[in-house]
Amino acid sequence: MTCLVDSHCHLNSLSLKGKAGATLPEIVMRAKAAGLTHALCVACTPQEYAQMTAAVKDFPGIYRSAGVHPLNLEEAGDWREEDLSACLQDPQAVALGETGLDYHYAAETRRQQLDSFARQIDLAVSLKKPLIIHAREAYQDTLALMRSHQARDCGGVMHCFCDCREMARDCLDLGYYISFSGIVTFKAGENVRQAARYVPLDRMLVETDCPYLAPVPVRGVENEPAFVRYTLEFLAGLKGVSAAQLADITSRNFAELFKVDLSGPNLQQYQGPEFSTYKIEPFSRPLS
Ligand SMILES: [Zn+2]
Ligand SMILES: [Zn+2]
Repeated sequence: MTCLVDSHCHLNSLSLKGKAGATLPEIVMRAKAAGLTHALCVACTPQEYAQMTAAVKDFPGIYRSAGVHPLNLEEAGDWREEDLSACLQDPQAVALGETGLDYHYAAETRRQQLDSFARQIDLAVSLKKPLIIHAREAYQDTLALMRSHQARDCGGVMHCFCDCREMARDCLDLGYYISFSGIVTFKAGENVRQAARYVPLDRMLVETDCPYLAPVPVRGVENEPAFVRYTLEFLAGLKGVSAAQLADITSRNFAELFKVDLSGPNLQQYQGPEFSTYKIEPFSRPLS
């Protein structure tokens, strides 16, 4: 079976007012029709993890992660290591994240972000969980903390990569994977395309980060896991491989990074409601 994985999504944050106001089971059926086999659903606070788990636990092939997002520090309050550790005891919780630094939206909380990120790197290293790192306009600080806190020891992924080739190189040097979202398809995404041309296939992942950042040609609508197909096909073109090959490669990378066995339960086994829009391109077209 060809696997296709959305390596980063926020299924419980969908407004479900997008395409025809679909329900979550319908969104998952569309992902199934698009050929998805697995996804990783990411919580941004320990509190959100319980709510997210309740929303997605009945869909086969959906892994989970928990972290404190740099833009959710206030909600997370004085988060404690034991709360995150408790989430990560769950066998479906395969990573710590997302965590990281975001100076684009919240430069004013830089100090708190640095402290929270450093503590989460330490926790990931002690729990031996890979990190999911969000870095936006924070290249130098992100790398400095990753280096000084031995983020290499737990490994991980730079999710929704939106930086330059040099940043990609430095993260690859630390053993990290690079995950590309719809940004790589954007007109203004030339620096990200340069990074994508540079990143070797065996270190590349693909994601939607839905409900945000829908790729071309569906920009502006609410993003959903099925749309990972557009980004995958675009990236395959950049790398000179077929979409089916890239689906295989990125799935293997995902399994290796998060230490999961993709031959277990998967989204193709999900029996959800009948829904007309998953008969529509690109959902019904086989991967080639
Ligand atoms: Zn993020
Ligand atoms: Zn995210």
